[in-house]
Amino acid sequence: MKLFFDDRQLLHTPLRELHNGDWVPYAENVERPRSIARQFADWQPVRDFGMAPLLAVHDADYLSFLERAHGAWVAAGRSGDAIGYTFPIRHRRPLDFGRIDAELGAYSYDAGTPVAAGTWQSAYWSAQGALTALDHLAASGDAHGFALCRPPGHHAGRDYMGGYCYLNNAAIAARAAGAQGLGPVAILDVDYHHGNGTQDIFYEDPGIFFASIHADPRTDYPFYWGHADETGAGEAMGSTLNLPLPRGTDGAAYVPALDRALDAISAWGARFLIVSFGADTHSSDPISSFALEREDYGVMAARIAALGVPTLIVMEGGYAVGDLGLNVAAFLAGFSG
Ligand SMILES: [Zn+2]
Repeated sequence: MKLFFDDRQLLHTPLRELHNGDWVPYAENVERPRSIARQFADWQPVRDFGMAPLLAVHDADYLSFLERAHGAWVAAGRSGDAIGYTFPIRHRRPLDFGRIDAELGAYSYDAGTPVAAGTWQSAYWSAQGALTALDHLAASGDAHGFALCRPPGHHAGRDYMGGYCYLNNAAIAARAAGAQGLGPVAILDVDYHHGNGTQDIFYEDPGIFFASIHADPRTDYPFYWGHADETGAGEAMGSTLNLPLPRGTDGAAYVPALDRALDAISAWGARFLIVSFGADTHSSDPISSFALEREDYGVMAARIAALGVPTLIVMEGGYAVGDLGLNVAAFLAGFSG
C-alpha cells in the first residue's frame, strides 16, 4: 500500500486549547503524524491539485478566511493563535464583518480549533495528500492507499471549522472520486467521534453514502450530530447511517456495528470507499472512552477489505501518541491480509 504525507503538514502548531474549563496543551500536535511517519520507511510525495477540488466542497469565502485569518489576527495587534470567543447559533445572515473575532466565530462552532500561523499551509497540504492518494489509486489500480492527513478533516463542514479540523479531506476526496467517475462513492467513518462535517456536506447529496460508527453523541463530542435518527434529507433520505455506541465499547461489541455499516455500503452499491480512520477508539486514548486494542484494528481492516472495492484511507483522530503509530500500522497491515 502506498502512503502519502508532506512535511508542510507539520507547520500547523497551535499551542493550547480550552478543555474542561482550562487551557491545556493542544492534543492535535505534530507528535501525532511523526509517530505514524516513523512506522514506515517509504512515503510518497504529495502533489498539488490546486484550489478547484477544495472549492468543490468548501465555500470560497470560508477558504479565503482560513488563508488570511492568522494574518488578520496579527494585524489586530494579537499574538498567539487566532481563536473565537463568540459563536452565532442557527442560521446566519450574510454579514460584512469588520473584525477578525466576528469571522472566527462565524466560521467555527467550537473553541478547539485555533488558527495558527501555519494552519492554512498544513490544512492545504493535508487535503492535497488525500487527492494525491486518490489519484494514485485511480491511475495504478492498487486496491488500497493511505493519506496521513493532518490536520484531520471530518468535523469541518462546507463553511466551518471545528474539532481540530479545517478542510474536510475525506469529503474533498469523495467529491473528486465522484467527478472522476469512480463512484458510487461511500464514506465509512470509524473515528471515535461522529464525522459531523462530512455528514453535513453530503446530507442532501444522494450521490455519496455516509456511514459513521462513533461514541453516542448524548455523552460525547460533537453532541449535536450523529444520533441514530439522522438518516439524510430530501432525495438523500437513507444515504446517511449513524451507529452510535456506548462508552466502554470493546472490539467484540464494535464488530457487529462495523458489519452493519459494511452491509449497508455494499447494498448501496459502492464501487469506491473512503475510510475516515481515527485511532482514538483505542483503550489508551486520553480524550476518548472506547476500549479497542491494537489487534482489533487488523480485524476491522480485514472486514473492510473484504468488501472488495478500491479504498482510500484518510487519517482522522487518535491522541495516544505513544500507541498511535503502532495502531495505524496494525490497521494498514490488516488490508494486506
Ligand atoms: Zn476523533
